[in-house]
Amino acid sequence: MQNGSFDVFALRKDFPLLLTKVYGKPLVYFDNAATSQKPRTVIERIVRYYEHENANIHRGVYHLSDLSSNAYEGSRDMVQKNINASKREEIIFVRGATEGINLVASSWGRTNLKAGDEVLISQMEHHANIVPWQLICQEKGAFLKVVPVDDSGELILEEFHKLLSEKTKFVSILYVSNSIGTINPIKTLIESAHQFNIPVLVDACQAAPHLSIDVHDLDCDFLVYSGHKIFAPTGIGVLYGKEILLNAMPPYQSGGDMINTVSFEKTTFKQAPHKFEAGTPDIAGAIGLGTAIEYINTIGKSKIHEYEQKLLNHITQKISDIDGLRIIGTAKNKIPVISFTVEGAHPMDIGTLIDFEGVAIRTGNHCTQPLLDRLGVTATCRASLAFYNTMEEIDFFADALNRVIKKIKN
Ligand code: PLP
Repeated sequence: MQNGSFDVFALRKDFPLLLTKVYGKPLVYFDNAATSQKPRTVIERIVRYYEHENANIHRGVYHLSDLSSNAYEGSRDMVQKNINASKREEIIFVRGATEGINLVASSWGRTNLKAGDEVLISQMEHHANIVPWQLICQEKGAFLKVVPVDDSGELILEEFHKLLSEKTKFVSILYVSNSIGTINPIKTLIESAHQFNIPVLVDACQAAPHLSIDVHDLDCDFLVYSGHKIFAPTGIGVLYGKEILLNAMPPYQSGGDMINTVSFEKTTFKQAPHKFEAGTPDIAGAIGLGTAIEYINTIGKSKIHEYEQKLLNHITQKISDIDGLRIIGTAKNKIPVISFTVEGAHPMDIGTLIDFEGVAIRTGNHCTQPLLDRLGVTATCRASLAFYNTMEEIDFFADALNRVIKKIKN
């Protein structure tokens, strides 16, 4: 069976793990916001790397080191093209979004923030985009300002505009919420910040698996995402930064491969990206990321988005019928992530019992405690879908959820 022109059943065959059985039942994997499954092409590329190309990069003059360096740098080109950055030097490989944000907060923040300055984030940030800014603000005597969200889980744009001032030195904000799925009007936010000449970092961790990202069009100053959420391995991620900003920033970590000259008196550094890639990086991870990007490009982000919107509508409609169920986060524009609570049933109990039905969902605060506080809950169940999920899985999930709730309440 096909879902329109989008043959999800053919695509599912690309993902070996989706054939897994849990307690004898077919796995329904609805925790894609935490991490995605990997297509065979990515897994095989990593195996090929270790079987035929493994050597350290940039330093060897021999054939294998060349192969390895070219594959690693080739992935940088792929990332550059994929997010439409002007230059390959603007792409820095990091461990993930968390490291990317820490890099900017430490390097840019430590150089540019001073007492009394303000950094603007939002109430819906992942902890990864709160804590690094909190720490650097504390160190510098700067203040963290927070754009509130409304009851539906959308940013209150008037408040965003009100909070921008000459005191604001940096805006760091997410594109898409990991816990409730809200898609923010990111381009408008960037344009407004730029009217005050404020640089903007976009946390695109949850946008990258679902939406096309064009840093040229967005005109963001920095952008981060994690490879493991876009069907690539764990341990690799991307920090995009405008070249002029990157080259003005001091190193974040230091050591081999990021220096020009070292003496005991003085060290000189390479320019970006190498200045920010100290030591041996995750070579296989970067190569796997390039392969994942190629894989997604063969499907096409617009097709993925169109299909995922159908999944979102279907799951919203299916679970809305359940007695006592409250959807947390009802923004107009969402990715297929749905958070909910059920009266009289603790999210942890739902998550544990539905696992016995073969369904993997996330329960807890999803690393967004301030957002959940604002929305009046301490924990939710979260089903987060990817393009390889099906309408049939949603139907099974809704039936399983009904069974689980009945069990808890009886
Ligand atoms: N930002 C958002 C919006 C996220 O969803 C996540 C992870 O869930 C992160 C940042 C941190 O990503 P990582 O743990 O891969 O560094």
